[in-house]
Amino acid sequence: MEDRLNGVPGRDYDDKSVVFDRGDNFHCEKNDVFTVKIEDIGNDGEGIGKVNGYTLFVKDAVIGDRVRCKIMKAKEHYAYGKLEEILVPSPVRVEPLCKYHRQCGGCQIQAMDYQAQLDFKQRKVKNNLLRIGGFDEELLEQVMEPIVGMENPYHYRNKAQFPVGTDREGKLIAGFYAGRTHDIIPNTDCALGVEENKEILECILAHMEKYHIPAYDEKTGTGLVRHILIRKGFASGEIMVCLVINYGSKKGHKTGIGKGGNREFLASQKELLKTLGKIHGMTSVSVCINTERTNVIMGDEVHTIWGKEKICDTIHRRDVEDFSLMDEGIVFHISPLSFYQVNPVQTEKLYSLALEYAGLSGKETVWDLYCGIGTISLFLAGKAEHVYGVEIIPQAVQDARENAAWNGIDNAEFFVGKAEEVLPEKYEKEGKRADVIVVDPPRKGCDRECLETMLKMRPERIVYVSCDSATLARDLRMLCDGGYELKRIRAVDQFGGTVHVETIVGLQRRDM
Ligand code: SAH
Repeated sequence: MEDRLNGVPGRDYDDKSVVFDRGDNFHCEKNDVFTVKIEDIGNDGEGIGKVNGYTLFVKDAVIGDRVRCKIMKAKEHYAYGKLEEILVPSPVRVEPLCKYHRQCGGCQIQAMDYQAQLDFKQRKVKNNLLRIGGFDEELLEQVMEPIVGMENPYHYRNKAQFPVGTDREGKLIAGFYAGRTHDIIPNTDCALGVEENKEILECILAHMEKYHIPAYDEKTGTGLVRHILIRKGFASGEIMVCLVINYGSKKGHKTGIGKGGNREFLASQKELLKTLGKIHGMTSVSVCINTERTNVIMGDEVHTIWGKEKICDTIHRRDVEDFSLMDEGIVFHISPLSFYQVNPVQTEKLYSLALEYAGLSGKETVWDLYCGIGTISLFLAGKAEHVYGVEIIPQAVQDARENAAWNGIDNAEFFVGKAEEVLPEKYEKEGKRADVIVVDPPRKGCDRECLETMLKMRPERIVYVSCDSATLARDLRMLCDGGYELKRIRAVDQFGGTVHVETIVGLQRRDM
């Protein structure tokens, strides 16, 4: 019976009278309805099922589900279907904490049991290393350790940026953009964020309502409040709120942008700050000026209007066996514009593994490429002779230097620039060397020039921290062809509920 139902185009699944006969010209069309068993999961979390060899991608379907789906877009060999009904739920399907998870683009796999999420991520990393990297399955079996999961895959994010807008009835709302759109779904209580988010957002929205302070309107470029950024130091308990507003820069004055909002905001600001100031942990309130008509959330001008300019957080070293805390940690000072890892608990595990993979004895010269605000660099500095950090954003390097000074670390030095330019220059022109190189590039991976220089510098060990296992696999192939061997690989889940996964790899130079 199952096979008969599986793959009946244009009919409802319970229309049992039709026996599907595919022939060789199988194709489907928009609005056809299929019953399909979801047998795999795609890189973006979509369910994948086959109907007589024809592939269907069904968003929101979970591996193991039997679903009814409607074709939205059909191609020659595959089609995209919309989940219409779950006929038999997968054994790994769970009730997600967030009721908006299907609309919001943020969490693609929240409806999957957490262990199944981890299994999927482990498989995804392994498959990329097999297919893109061309590594042997046997080798991967030997060097891949089990993925490091979270104790609680919810409420782990220390940072959230909520867009502010107006609904159809003209009510002020804050929430999330619905997947791939700029329509705001009102939700002040994201299941990944901290519990204080709700109180803070509701307090700001109520204040805006009371004083008729308008939300920014993307279509017209008018209105005032664009986004609300909230950050919490998990170790310190300190909270930072930054209102991104469409008013105040020189440009804004000239064009009159923000008219009809700023006066009310300024006049009532004290009252807002008083209310926000009472929230437990509130440490810093600022405004960030962004009058540009772009999708970029933050502007580059920030003014603190209450409390301190920065909040603190501490990153501790953890035992790499049981991940218990091992030291007092390093304190980071974070401003609204600083890049800072969003899942501090998993970051501690990741960096502790980086330290372990780096195998430092205290005598090494270490390079930390793509160093951001120097988090990994400072983490390694206590066990190395000298650390050099390289980062493209000048403000981040400024933060890195300040963070080094605050922690009394004097053996870390930072350079502003592209890794692929700074490294060759320092090596070829200044003769700088490396015992260990750590890289933590953005999704596109390392630049070829950077990898080539690394190979020329021939460090004893390379530690690669990656947020995209496809580019990781590509880069590892080049490093392995250039004389390195894979020693250890471990995925670390920094982003429960989503398809993203971090991977850390330890490579050793082969002595030829
Ligand atoms: N290691 C840091 C930051 C990692 S994110 C941490 O763990 O916190 C990647 C960083 O690479 C970002 O800070 C980004 O600004 C920087 N970056 C991007 N392209 C770069 C390049 N070509 N050269 C140097 N840094 C770059």
